Amino acid sequence: MSTPVPGIETVGVVGAGQMGNGIAHVFAVSGYNVVMSDLEQSRIDTAMETIDGNLERQLRKDLITEAESNAARARIKGTTDMADFGNCDLVIEAAAEIETLKKDIFKKLVEVVPENAILASNTSSISITRLATVTDRPERFMGIHFMNPVPVMRLVELIRGIATDEATYETMRAVVASLGKEAASAEDFPAFIVNRVLVPMINEAVYTLYEGVGTVESIDKAMKLGANHPMGPLELADFIGLDTCLAIMNVLHDGLADTKYRPCPLLVKYVEAGWLGRKTGRGFYDYRGAEPVPTR
Ligand code: NAD
Repeated sequence: MSTPVPGIETVGVVGAGQMGNGIAHVFAVSGYNVVMSDLEQSRIDTAMETIDGNLERQLRKDLITEAESNAARARIKGTTDMADFGNCDLVIEAAAEIETLKKDIFKKLVEVVPENAILASNTSSISITRLATVTDRPERFMGIHFMNPVPVMRLVELIRGIATDEATYETMRAVVASLGKEAASAEDFPAFIVNRVLVPMINEAVYTLYEGVGTVESIDKAMKLGANHPMGPLELADFIGLDTCLAIMNVLHDGLADTKYRPCPLLVKYVEAGWLGRKTGRGFYDYRGAEPVPTR
């Protein structure tokens, strides 16, 4: 695989959820040392199991060798202690899509990371400029938005805050290339490019369900066979996480002040029910049986 960018040897990842464990995986496979944190050891353990399964799949497909897989696994250190980010050259935050939570994390991070470390967020929608303001280094702060599932998807959006300097941007472009991925640059406006287009489409699919225009199955079938999408929009929403989809719609609605971005009340209701998609076993589909079936 490729070699790490000079000066970036150890990468921290905050949050070991769907995105965090994928980000840890791709950095480790590309030769970086990785420190991955979460709130509880049980979440780290689950993330490590997911990484093991994904490395195993890559091995079976001959995408990596056994030696590369073992070396990658050995490069990842899990922790519940932020102090372990003390050696990181780059830290990527991948905790839940809640602005106050992310700001609290960055406030804690600046106390432990080296002075010249780059800080970045994997946020799907929140202003990079605003997140950077709680740090001591807005010029070394970036948005680096990976796609789900991280080991598979080729694109990474790069977002500069208003204060991000050119050296940081160029380093992050090189980092993305070192992972074997492609970068697309987006300006710092709500939800950037991919989610500005994708999530309102998902929200519209939920309205289509809410208004009884189609069933879960007919909506997904229509978009798969009629628009050639690899996944239907409701299936995709479950894959992303309905809480994340709702959070992105709220950022678009608040940030652009346009009623066309109002979140569908049915999406809100599913999130309130804790039906967040695949990660909780139920969303627009119920994943608890052998095959996913529409929840209602
Ligand atoms: P997730 O719910 O699977 O994981 C979030 C993890 O962060 C959880 O394990 C949680 O315990 C942990 N966490 C919360 N507070 C923490 C803290 N203070 N310190 C350490 N860990 C903490 O969510 P996800 O889908 O992985 O999303 C994470 C981020 O990535 C969000 O900002 C989301 O918008 C973004 N994102 C998601 C997708 C997607 O398809 N799901 C795609 C691109 C970007």
